[in-house]
Amino acid sequence: MSQLPPKTMPRCPLSRKCGGCQLQNMDYPRQLKYKQETVVSLLGKYHHVKPILGMERPYHYRNKVQAAFGLTRGGEVVSGVYQSSSHRIVKVDSCQIEDPAADRIVVTIRKMLPSFRILPYNEDSRRGFLRHVLVRRGFTSGQIMVVFVGASPMFPLKKKFTEELLRRHPEITTVVLNINPQRTSMLLGEREEVLFGRGFIEDTLCGCTFRISPRSFYQINPLQTERLYRTALDMAQLKPTDRVLDAYCGVGTIGIVAARQAGQVVGVELNGDAVRDARVNARRNGLENIAFMEADAGEYMVKLARSGEKVDVVLMDPPRAGSDIPFLESLLTLAPARVVYISCNPETQARDLRVLTKGGYRVTGIQPVDMFPHTSHIECVVLLVKAHPAA
Ligand code: SAH
Repeated sequence: MSQLPPKTMPRCPLSRKCGGCQLQNMDYPRQLKYKQETVVSLLGKYHHVKPILGMERPYHYRNKVQAAFGLTRGGEVVSGVYQSSSHRIVKVDSCQIEDPAADRIVVTIRKMLPSFRILPYNEDSRRGFLRHVLVRRGFTSGQIMVVFVGASPMFPLKKKFTEELLRRHPEITTVVLNINPQRTSMLLGEREEVLFGRGFIEDTLCGCTFRISPRSFYQINPLQTERLYRTALDMAQLKPTDRVLDAYCGVGTIGIVAARQAGQVVGVELNGDAVRDARVNARRNGLENIAFMEADAGEYMVKLARSGEKVDVVLMDPPRAGSDIPFLESLLTLAPARVVYISCNPETQARDLRVLTKGGYRVTGIQPVDMFPHTSHIECVVLLVKAHPAA
């Protein structure tokens, strides 16, 4: 056994049923050691791996809480998470990694439902209304968004319900009804109605302000996201003349922070909502040297490589599945001086690094960042430079 200090977190009573925090049986220093060793075993052959950046207080870091709603056999309303690989809901009142203010709001909503005679939606009988509640909080702005996910637009007493919720939680800044009539594992549907406020929240990261809509991707651990982005931008060493590509850019966060140092930035993203938010975000921060393309990153890279354009730095942050061969091969053709590869899955990152290192790049920096304490997820930033700069 390790000589590390004992656990500081009381063991979560729901850990086995919930399954969200896979590493709860290890104390935090041990979790970090495990993640470090995993990155070393996958990427260590390319370069020295710097010690993982952990959190000082690795609790309540999630700025987004999503709670499923249902009825027990006895007819009691429950809210919480689906029991691992089942459709049973484990009741959660508070969670060690979620934002406590958001958890409190979910509990209030659960307690309010019976007096308003609002029923959770039942997928089998197709009766009832409320499927999920999503709460997002801007950790720096303090703004809070509550999203009711209903099975139909018929939200009984929605005005009175919203008023009562706001009376009990005046800290809420916007309330949205999202309508999801589909039998699907996707949480949010396509239709939305704003019930109160502006329909989005804003938050600040690395000194830039970002709009977050109910459906846009936004990093869930804002404190560590700042450290992640700073690491990535330190590695990128941007100059005012650099042309930069931010691939898989989401709502444009990294690219917008980069645009303050670089000449020109282009962001590429598949999700149309995220691209719309990214464009608003660029204007919101007064930036005119950044543009966003709604496209598959691989297809866009192929076109860019064919057009003979010059790119100095590529920042890439693909989803867990990693990048793809069209993207990586076009990257080799474009031959930027530096590539900063941010990944939330070092296994696919290792696979992609094989292609890039065979194609003439050398890894010169590896920095894991703990974005998801107590879970098994690992985030890692890698810097690659061209091994033989063109003469
Ligand atoms: N860099 C952003 C988002 C990273 S998450 C941030 O730090 O917040 C990965 C993003 O890749 C998501 O926004 C997802 O919509 C997008 N994505 C997934 N597949 C893609 C593809 N084939 N082409 C372009 N973007 C894609």
